[in-house]
Amino acid sequence: MDILKVGDQEKGACEKCAAFVTVTYQLRDVPFSDGCGLVKQVLVGVCEQCDQVCVLPQQSTPVVKRALEKQRKPVESRVPAHMVDILNLASVEVGCGTEFIPYIVKYYLHALASRKMSAKRLPGYLTTDLAKGKAEKRISLKGQHVVEEVSELKALTQIESTSDLIRGVILKINDDIVQNKRLKPLNELRGIAAAVG
Ligand SMILES: [Zn+2]
Repeated sequence: MDILKVGDQEKGACEKCAAFVTVTYQLRDVPFSDGCGLVKQVLVGVCEQCDQVCVLPQQSTPVVKRALEKQRKPVESRVPAHMVDILNLASVEVGCGTEFIPYIVKYYLHALASRKMSAKRLPGYLTTDLAKGKAEKRISLKGQHVVEEVSELKALTQIESTSDLIRGVILKINDDIVQNKRLKPLNELRGIAAAVG
């Protein structure tokens, strides 16, 4: 991959002009195609004729992805208060503060949805006493893959509601981390904590 600099020029196709034009790379604020939001100061190829952005170089795609990410709506669910306590205790077990909670839940969602970890006990957890309780606390999960992984895991477990699914995941975290201190997930989570901390 060629790394482009501000001011570099090359020939490229401009859709708007329907022509092959000289493209100059510049930093521009680029609106998303759906009109909601903007990526600020990203390196793009600008058409010499119409002054519109006509090329998004490969090196700029991580920035655009990240901006889209920030825009993406989180997966929200409501859970009983003791479930947040479970997640707090699990964070402590990893050696972190409560800011680590979303990472733990996302790690589990990923491991379960990708079948690196068995999801077969999830429905069973929902029939236990710990699954009960008034949903008074909110859990908000953001991330590139959260939405897909939640739907993947719903299909896998036949659990239809997102809140039930998150409850099941939290009860698995309770079982693995808080109660049994299983080393495999704990060590992986400690690795993540070291990377994000
Ligand atoms: Zn043009």
